[in-house]
Amino acid sequence: MNNRYYNSNRLIKDALRVIPLGSQTFSKSITAFPRGVSPLFIEKGLMAKVWDVDGNEYLDFINGLASVTMGYSNDEINSKVVEQLDKGVIFSLPNKVEIEVAKIIIDLVPSVDMVRFGKNGTDVTSAAIRLARAHTGRDHVLVCGYHGWQDWYIGSTTRNLGVPDVVKKLTHKFEYNNIQNLKDLFEKYKDKVAAVIMEPMNVNWPIEGYLQQVESVTKQNGALFILDEMITGFRYAKGGAQELFNLTPDLTVFGKGIANGFPLSVLSGKREVMTLVEDIFFSGTFGGETVSLIAAKSVLNKVKNSNYVETISALGSKLINGVNSLIDKYCIGLYVSISGHPAVSYLVIKKSENYTALEIKTLFLQEVFLRGVLVLGSHNISYSHTESDIDKLLSVYDEVFQILEDSISNNKLHALLTVEPLKPLFKVR
Ligand code: PMP
Repeated sequence: MNNRYYNSNRLIKDALRVIPLGSQTFSKSITAFPRGVSPLFIEKGLMAKVWDVDGNEYLDFINGLASVTMGYSNDEINSKVVEQLDKGVIFSLPNKVEIEVAKIIIDLVPSVDMVRFGKNGTDVTSAAIRLARAHTGRDHVLVCGYHGWQDWYIGSTTRNLGVPDVVKKLTHKFEYNNIQNLKDLFEKYKDKVAAVIMEPMNVNWPIEGYLQQVESVTKQNGALFILDEMITGFRYAKGGAQELFNLTPDLTVFGKGIANGFPLSVLSGKREVMTLVEDIFFSGTFGGETVSLIAAKSVLNKVKNSNYVETISALGSKLINGVNSLIDKYCIGLYVSISGHPAVSYLVIKKSENYTALEIKTLFLQEVFLRGVLVLGSHNISYSHTESDIDKLLSVYDEVFQILEDSISNNKLHALLTVEPLKPLFKVR
């Protein structure tokens, strides 16, 4: 066993005795990080870097699963947070920062008239579905992408243990960039669909006109059009993917990244729909928690008043171009590709003639971690990444792609893998 991860390996043994999966989050667990060749616990972060419990330094492209957009331990945000901590975290009545943050979101996102806050993304996707059901008097929902861990959504995936059949039957997946598939579902569940909820984009770009057609087909069928902008929001454009693709959703949900890692999510939308939030039940003890809201105020002002959006796009474009050149250099396009928006691009690894995608992915992770880059597949660019960080990533990929090419074409991948390959995970995208 590699000594580089001595403390990580020691802690995971301990963690697994007291915490199922040893982690609170699936994508931070040993289901995603091959045990033995990965850092498994992080000690601290600063700007674009993090340090694991063995003192190894990493340039981080995961950024708290895309929740850290302004860099770790950002001074400006930290000082506002400390000021607020001195006054208190949460009170017995609302605080004016709730109104302030709501107004900045309304200002940035044209389709939004009203806002309510939650903590995790799942809070607000679930609230949006309840609201849509209440608004339309219908029960079925059509989904595309990932929308959180609650019954109404996860029942539609293969990881649906514990979800009642009656709930599973109400959610139906549709295929991205296939408008006929959506139309067919509306036909099959005629007058029964409360909402279409989708990620406007993740790995693939929308076909010209596709998203506009989704919006019009949804509205023609009397259902609500809900955009899940958890990842795209305040990144693809100041007003999110809906600004970039010129969409007008009835409801939009945001989360990840809105408060640079402090827990905050947002249910937002048109006034005529949002006023019904007064009649459904969407309420929790930690709603209105001020520290996260103060952090969000700082982040959103930065989105509004700086060149953050342009900067992360420019850095991401440099990254995508660089990775494409390396794919060409090593002729590995058969099993490695890069796609997505520059702000959040995805390295997609597929099977080769002789190895599974997970075997190749495991070797890739083993080698990038060894070289001080923390990445799982997506490159979540933050405002604290620099051009030289992208250069560093590319020089690491240069070495690692060469290893992949050599080990795959010479049939010696297993000899290089020092642990068991990752096991298949449920696929949501
Ligand atoms: N929607 C999207 C698009 C997401 O990426 C996520 C989180 N990965 C969620 C919803 C759920 O958010 P959370 O994990 O904060 O509940």
